[in-house]
Amino acid sequence: MQELSELLGSQGLPAILKYSHALIALLDANGRILECNPACESLTKSDPSAETIQTLLVLESRSFFDRLAGLAIEKQAPAHGALTLLPNRGSGETEYDCTLIPTTDGRILFFAELVSLDPVLAERYQRVSRRAAQLKLDYEYSKQTLLQKQMEIDLVVTQAHEVANTDALTFLPNRRQILGELQRAVMASNRYHTPLSVSMLDVDHFKIINDTYGHAVGDLVLRQVASYLRDNVRNPDLVGRYGGEEFLVVLPQTSLESATEQAERLCKSLRETSIPNGDQGIHVTISVGVAQYQIEQEDWQRLLARADSALYDAKAAGRDRWAAA
Ligand code: GH3
Ligand code: MG
Ligand code: MG
Repeated sequence: MQELSELLGSQGLPAILKYSHALIALLDANGRILECNPACESLTKSDPSAETIQTLLVLESRSFFDRLAGLAIEKQAPAHGALTLLPNRGSGETEYDCTLIPTTDGRILFFAELVSLDPVLAERYQRVSRRAAQLKLDYEYSKQTLLQKQMEIDLVVTQAHEVANTDALTFLPNRRQILGELQRAVMASNRYHTPLSVSMLDVDHFKIINDTYGHAVGDLVLRQVASYLRDNVRNPDLVGRYGGEEFLVVLPQTSLESATEQAERLCKSLRETSIPNGDQGIHVTISVGVAQYQIEQEDWQRLLARADSALYDAKAAGRDRWAAA
């Protein structure tokens, strides 16, 4: 190769440098590109930040390049290895066979030749890539379906929870739910020392409504009373159906005085309300027993018992009124 080498040196190199697809560059010891051929330049000129060979390489190849460069300079002998360019560099094929030749003044001659993939391997690679892409799509689709099913389950669970806690006739919170609310309110009252009151409501002479108009109209009246209470009891107060024609209002952060004002208002406006039934309206009244929770002195059952006893007093005093415990 003696003659070939001499001829290359004297006549061939400028043309090779100009036309070769190999990347040929002169680097400093840190990989900075000092000079390079057009093939190499076409990779770097689109990106001014690509000042070093390392910036053109994938992460693993960067450290490998540093090792090769260190080895070449230390041993003062050519070092050889395979490097991978970043995928957005070059024309898609990114594997390069590289040779690093140290110069006597500590710089490096860099020569990198594109490695074409074996066609069988390339075909296999394509197939695996396509399969991977399909699996990824399937996975995304399954994830989506799963997410949708989870949302449906959550919705059904929420609905089941609502059904379990709602009174079927009036759609108010049922006894279980309103007692749960009362217990939570009692805990909050004990913890924060805030006032809490309850009102026990009972429709007066409701048996007469049933006897006069029939059970179905009785149901209708209960629904109307419930709807009236729902509209007239303001947040954070809560109303629930406690029993047949009895309702419980829980009034957090409310003193006995404010609770009795509400009871007065409810008695009065219900008294003045006519519940539509055919041509004639039905009038009903309520009696209310009000009690304020005695913080840390009693439990919720005792509070209810006192409200119930006040309700009894209101009934005994003639109905259509409130009494306080
Ligand atoms: P008072 O003023 O003392 O409360 O008299 P009252 O007639 O309202 O009391 P009583 O406890 O004697 O009667 C309550 C009636 O409410 C008896 C029961 O049949 C009726 N009732 C309970 N639940 C329902 C219901 O869901 N629908 C209907 N239509 N009636 C009901
Ligand atoms: Mg009654
Ligand atoms: Mg009753």
